[in-house]
Amino acid sequence: MKIIFVGPPGAGKGTQAKLLSEKLRVPHISTGDMLRNLDGNTALGKKAKEIMGRGELLPDDIMVKLVNERISQADCSTGFILDGFPRSVTQAEELDKIMAATKRSLDIVLAVMVDDKVLEDRIAGRAAQEGRKDDNPEAFRQRLKAYRASTEPVLAYYKQKGLLRSVDGSKSVVEVTVAINRSLDEQNQAPDKRLKQSS
Ligand code: AMP
Repeated sequence: MKIIFVGPPGAGKGTQAKLLSEKLRVPHISTGDMLRNLDGNTALGKKAKEIMGRGELLPDDIMVKLVNERISQADCSTGFILDGFPRSVTQAEELDKIMAATKRSLDIVLAVMVDDKVLEDRIAGRAAQEGRKDDNPEAFRQRLKAYRASTEPVLAYYKQKGLLRSVDGSKSVVEVTVAINRSLDEQNQAPDKRLKQSS
């Protein structure tokens, strides 16, 4: 299956994407992890570090190239789970083109929805546990702003294509996993509701 996770920072999409990738045995592709793993001595690595530290989004062309290279690899032939991409309508459109060119199509887009106050508390907890540089309050506010401005419109984009399913990410990890599995079942049983991706 080809699955996308969308959600604000701290919604728990990384945790759920990892669990689902283990269950379905398809690669979990986190663009945030890909960027964090770039060599910090390269021009791209330096640029990524700077932009991420500010809580801003990297340019679409860089992200599309990174993701295209990754999903073209053999281990993605049966499917993949994208976590953190697309984060803009441009990225979503470019992904559609890549999928169409390789005669593939997305199966479902899972939106993990959580209120801002819950997100703020979670990010503060994660900052203490994991020490991510962009989990400080200022970068978090910027990430939330980038989510509202650039990523939220992606939900409407996929809704219009009949691919969007939303789950309440404020529940426990187990409850969210159950809701995701239910959404997958429902989407699988209603393929006729899905519009053609090219439409
Ligand atoms: P994440 O680990 O998904 O929260 O991503 C961490 C940071 O990586 C984001 O705040 C952005 O700076 C950057 N990033 C990850 N994915 C993308 C993307 N698809 N487009 C632009 N920037 C991204």
